[in-house]
Amino acid sequence: MKPARFAYHAPASIDEALTLLSAHAADARVLAGGQSLIPMMNFRLAEPAVVIDLNGIAALVYIKDDGAVVRIGAMTRQRALEFSPIVAAKLPLLREAIRLVGHLPTRSRGTIGGSLAHADPAAELPMILQMLEGELVAHGRRGERRIAAADFIQDAMSTSLTDDEILVEVRLPTMPAGARFAVEEFARRHGDFAIAAVAVMLLRQGDICAKARIATAGISARSVRLHAAEQVLEQKGCGVQAIAQAAEAAAAAVEPVSDQNASAEFRRHLTRVLTQRALARAAA
Ligand code: FAD
Repeated sequence: MKPARFAYHAPASIDEALTLLSAHAADARVLAGGQSLIPMMNFRLAEPAVVIDLNGIAALVYIKDDGAVVRIGAMTRQRALEFSPIVAAKLPLLREAIRLVGHLPTRSRGTIGGSLAHADPAAELPMILQMLEGELVAHGRRGERRIAAADFIQDAMSTSLTDDEILVEVRLPTMPAGARFAVEEFARRHGDFAIAAVAVMLLRQGDICAKARIATAGISARSVRLHAAEQVLEQKGCGVQAIAQAAEAAAAAVEPVSDQNASAEFRRHLTRVLTQRALARAAA
């Protein structure tokens, strides 16, 4: 298949891209790594009349350690995050999750902004954004807007970005020192989208679980935090029994979807198993 006819623009600055976007808004799509948009255009699932290529805007590519927050430019390649010493030191959970995102070639082109803006329910990066309670910075006709992780993804493939906005930065709080973490995923093959995935982060103080975070991918229409399961651990600690109870609470809390890959009931079962495995690995 080939894409429908479209006009192509390659702006050299964010302002130039925003001017183009506000002129074409609903008829335009911005192009990042193209690992989702181009296949969608080839299958005619997306037929933008105008494509605004962000690949020439160097100002959108960076990883900056601001102490309590790591600031990442939207056009930063997933592969750059995979091998970044800042990510390794301050966001090791992101590094573990990135390795589950597609394959080496897709990570070499795919960007963090594209993955978040595409909002595939099975994508790992929205799950990490939720886990770390990150924040997104968007620029548009009305200037700069900051969007909390919980308010960004509205539904499958749908975000709160307006059609004249560009995601310019992702802000992730650095993980607490000593935080334990794990990502467990069930997919047909390594590199395939998750049929179900669970990410956990624990902050232990002896047998007490001072902080627990649990988030999902691939299970429901969008990544969610499993607060009820987190509370079980923060009230009962990280022992074997508490982990089993948290896994049950996680399975009870999700609203799993059915599709050609798995039934809702199987995804609920996977939530229980993957939560148990991830917590056991993180707590060990
Ligand atoms: P693009 O494809 O260029 O754009 C995606 C969408 O986001 C478009 O609608 C575009 O307009 C919009 N957009 C992009 N950047 C911005 C921005 N800065 N502001 C506003 N809107 C923006 N992903 C996973 O998470 N897990 C996987 O296991 C996985 N496996 C894959 C396997 C294969 C074979 C392939 C081809 C892809 C896979 N992907 C997977 C998808 C991949 O990670 C893409 O990189 C990602 O979904 C989109 O990022 P991109 O930079 O390529 O964005």
